[in-house]
Amino acid sequence: MVSAPVSVPLVDGFGRVHRDLRISVTDRCNFRCTYCMPAEGMKWLPRDEVLSFEEIERIARVCVEHFGVDSIRLTGGEPTVRAHLPVLVGKLAALRTGPAAAAPGRPVDIALTTNGATLRSMAGHLVGAGLRRVNISLDTLRRDRFIELTRRDELDNVIDGIEAAREAGLDPVKINTVVMRGVNDSEILDLAIFGRERGVTVRFIEWMPLDADQRWKSDAVVSQSEIVAAIGAIFPVDPIVRGHEPAERFAYRDGAGEVGVIPSVTRPFCGSCDRIRLTADGQLRSCLFSVDEFDLRALLRGEASDREVAEAVQRCVAGKSAGHMIGQVQFVRPRRSMSQIGG
Ligand code: SAM
Repeated sequence: MVSAPVSVPLVDGFGRVHRDLRISVTDRCNFRCTYCMPAEGMKWLPRDEVLSFEEIERIARVCVEHFGVDSIRLTGGEPTVRAHLPVLVGKLAALRTGPAAAAPGRPVDIALTTNGATLRSMAGHLVGAGLRRVNISLDTLRRDRFIELTRRDELDNVIDGIEAAREAGLDPVKINTVVMRGVNDSEILDLAIFGRERGVTVRFIEWMPLDADQRWKSDAVVSQSEIVAAIGAIFPVDPIVRGHEPAERFAYRDGAGEVGVIPSVTRPFCGSCDRIRLTADGQLRSCLFSVDEFDLRALLRGEASDREVAEAVQRCVAGKSAGHMIGQVQFVRPRRSMSQIGG
């Protein structure tokens, strides 16, 4: 008889405990954001290389039961282009932390990162299946710029998707905005005002060297200090003590909510990172910038036991680097770009 798993923390060589699993459900996307994907020519994974919902659920269950992972975020590519996504959400929402044989543990917090374009039709189904939170990407409020940036004319649908998410009861609804110098940095304040007026938290993201076209340059990165200065000059903010989340958070002094910055480049938060990432083709990565991957799909399709899968997860995390080294001579760009890893 296979013994029940014992839940142990998933600790790396630097003492960081990992409780957050990011799952890419597809490498495909209905947008072609310039800072992420090429206009054409992206090579998609063959269907049979992409994990099935049952395989994703099994890996998630091993992480939840063996290691107390209590937060799962679905991403991509664009996760909503994967058919029947609510079915997967339902499977993951049924997971409980801790060993299966023990008293029922806590439910897992299920979140989604999406471009939001189809949320008007999908948000209700996703909430019904157990989704609680959503991050919606929105880099500009100007239609011409939106078309240039995403190579799609979908701004109205994305803004409507934000409303649909709120109406469906997703809470919080956060906006992810990648800021690039000379591209959309003139809109930092407008986007902050958009968040204040709609009661959604905007999280500005420093552009990272993960674009498929390899056009990233350090001087195109708009730093956290520049972003906070631009907002704070009009709406004073106070820092909020940071937890494990990647965003540095700031509360508006006038009580109109908060704004965040993910300063991956200028103020990396690797020291408190608690995330592991599963690609759509079943490769486990301990970091966005990992050069190593652990092939969980091969284990699953080779009929490995849950314990063997758990051991591979532990090996992956044990080898996690201290930090990503962007901007230093040792930095090595990963072979895969952001949409192929899962942001
Ligand atoms: N398609 C979904 C979306 O648009 O949110 C999910 C996948 S997308 C790769 C996840 C997040 O990564 C988005 O917020 C996107 O803006 C961000 N992103 C993509 N490329 C990036 C880069 N090179 N640097 C920083 N953030 C990036």
